[in-house]
Amino acid sequence: MGKPSLIKEVLKWFIGRPVTIQYPYEGTSIEDRFRGRHFADLNKCTGCSLCAIECPADAINMEKLPEKASVPKNPRRIYPVVSYSKCVYCYRCVTICPFDAYVTTNDYKLAGPARLYSRDYSLQSIRGGGQ
Ligand code: SF4
Ligand code: SF4
Repeated sequence: MGKPSLIKEVLKWFIGRPVTIQYPYEGTSIEDRFRGRHFADLNKCTGCSLCAIECPADAINMEKLPEKASVPKNPRRIYPVVSYSKCVYCYRCVTICPFDAYVTTNDYKLAGPARLYSRDYSLQSIRGGGQ
């Protein structure tokens, strides 16, 4: 590349818009089928544990429901809690659930010290949050 064309090339990139997105100052685009945060809807979950057994990342732990939680379809009174920091977002749990109990979202902003588990989202799916 000769000197004039090199200068032209440098100027082109110097005055042009940046190619990269200035995240987090600018939002990023999200693909339609993006797999983000997900949690079990406790109105549908029966506590069968299939999703926890099948999870390849061992990211789902079955936990006891709070005493006051009203869940007529869940006699064992246990529900899946997803660890978002262990999850690899394969959505096997979502597709394998026989009761279509998982709620999916395209939320990817999961970094940080709070809300790294699906517990609160699931408890909020039932009236009164089971508290
Ligand atoms: S979310 Fe589905 S697969 Fe997982 S425990 Fe509940 S009913 Fe079973
Ligand atoms: S999306 Fe995959 S890795 Fe994440 S909890 Fe579900 S089965 Fe496990």
